[in-house]
Amino acid sequence: MWDDREEEQARQFEKMTATHLYCNNCGRSMPVQETLLLVLPDGELYDYRCAKCHESVGTRKETKRPSLEIKGE
Ligand SMILES: [Zn+2]
Repeated sequence: MWDDREEEQARQFEKMTATHLYCNNCGRSMPVQETLLLVLPDGELYDYRCAKCHESVGTRKETKRPSLEIKGE
């Protein structure tokens, strides 16, 4: 059966955007675009690129929290 709660949970995963990082190319802090670079077994690696010149200004690894779900069996 369709479970509405699943949709509610998905909505909570709002992407963090409008991040500003220093861009060497532009010589100032610039808004960056977040791109998913790699999916790792324990998380995801994001690449940040300057929104203006598309120079890579940094990466971020987002580690997944270990699942704390305990299924009683
Ligand atoms: Zn730039």
